[in-house]
Amino acid sequence: MFLVATGYVLWHSIDMFKHISGRAGSLGDILTKSRFLNGLQCPLFLWTQARLPERIPRPDAATARRFDAGDMVGELAKKVFPDGIDIPRDDFFGNIELAGKAMKKRLPIFEAGLFAGRVFSRVDILEPSGKTGWNIIEVKSSASVKDLHITDVAFQYFSAIEAGLSVNKCYLMHVNTGYVRRGDISPSEFFVREDVTRKAGIRASGIGKKVGELLKVLDGDRIPEKDIGEWCRSPYHCPMIKECWRFLPDHSVFDLAGAGKKAYELYRAGILAITDIPGGYPLKKNQIIQQKCEREGRPHADIKAINDFLSFLEYPLHFMDFETVNPAVPLYEGTSPFEQIPFQFSVFVVEKEGARAERRDFLAEGMIDPRPEFLRELKSALGPRGTVVAYNKSFENAVLRKLAVMSPEDADWVQDVISRTVDLLSPFKSFQYYHPGQKGKASIKNVLPALTGISYDGLEICEGGAASDAFLAIVDGRLSEKDKARTRAGLITYCGQDAEGMVRILEKLKKI
Ligand code: SF4
Repeated sequence: MFLVATGYVLWHSIDMFKHISGRAGSLGDILTKSRFLNGLQCPLFLWTQARLPERIPRPDAATARRFDAGDMVGELAKKVFPDGIDIPRDDFFGNIELAGKAMKKRLPIFEAGLFAGRVFSRVDILEPSGKTGWNIIEVKSSASVKDLHITDVAFQYFSAIEAGLSVNKCYLMHVNTGYVRRGDISPSEFFVREDVTRKAGIRASGIGKKVGELLKVLDGDRIPEKDIGEWCRSPYHCPMIKECWRFLPDHSVFDLAGAGKKAYELYRAGILAITDIPGGYPLKKNQIIQQKCEREGRPHADIKAINDFLSFLEYPLHFMDFETVNPAVPLYEGTSPFEQIPFQFSVFVVEKEGARAERRDFLAEGMIDPRPEFLRELKSALGPRGTVVAYNKSFENAVLRKLAVMSPEDADWVQDVISRTVDLLSPFKSFQYYHPGQKGKASIKNVLPALTGISYDGLEICEGGAASDAFLAIVDGRLSEKDKARTRAGLITYCGQDAEGMVRILEKLKKI
């Protein structure tokens, strides 16, 4: 019997599942690909996702952005197969039935649901191969094939075989970073297709056993017990961290600067608070400073080192912060996937000691490549003399160097700015100054509130990723005029806070 072309196996499984299963078709009983991957990471996460999904927090902004980027790239991948059949995803069982019917046409199928027993996966692209076989194509908005992608494809391979399909090849289609946009995006040049059949096949051989184990987890009546551990952040940042980790004290060993594995070692030895780390435990110099600050409840300052840092500064001071966007799908002519495009800066200029900071902002409209105007405006905002202050200057310097490549006639100016730039991160990174409120981190998002009480909480845009996303939303036209104006105002506030924050941090350092 030829099972694939009729879709018999797929429909039969649905029927079995809906009417014979003891739970009469609860979607919580199904092991989908995402549940499988989550279960590999942590059984507690899998069980909660399936049985108490309301306890899983909604994806944070960064995760939602990753999903959006993935969707955009996924849509582009479909254009590589102009005769493909797109199956709607919104009706779970309807999708599986339609996929079974579409297979008879022997055309590429997008989002085909494959269901067998209690295992389900949805294949990005199912491509006919030979007379009866199929290729599985998984689309990723990444620059290369990662190990986790192989597990992802292996699960689909396993599901397809279980559903009665004859699978010839497995491919990963990821972004071609060498692609340069010329006019409209060319989907066939935008992607690289890598054959991962052998790797996926090897990995699929262990999937059946793991599926059995994870189905047992799903069938459990109680929340599985699972301690916190390295798996909470790898391979994905688990959305339940807030809940599972909330028993830890404020300023826990996981806040110890650069602790890495050491934090887990301490935790497993029953030491939860930094202040409880016993004397004699091998801590690095910075960690000893941090622990001392925690115990004494006051900051640490290496006055000489801070004075040395301050002695490098020459007025007028230019406090400079950039925002960039690096979408997988390049927005502008001549740019490549994931290329950093600066679209905004904020510069605060302090002419002399005690003078009020004068502010200069640039925020591109975004309809055309913002880089030439960005460069022009920046040249006008930064005078020919005085120190430029950045926080984590390697980022700003990298952007400047790329601008010099785009505009070689400005290379000398760029080099001059780079040579005049000092990094305000450095006294904090090297623990010349440390405040317990930093919780082991030297990012401006931690340092500014700890030193000045100025917080990023409540800002509409409060981190660089959100700023990129906001700019993309402006550019792709998904915002109304009113929302666009609000978003632009949010961007100006956010970038300005980073730049003005540096002014305030420096004032604090001077008073120490
Ligand atoms: S936070 Fe950690 S322990 Fe809790 S569900 Fe997630 S991975 Fe499991």
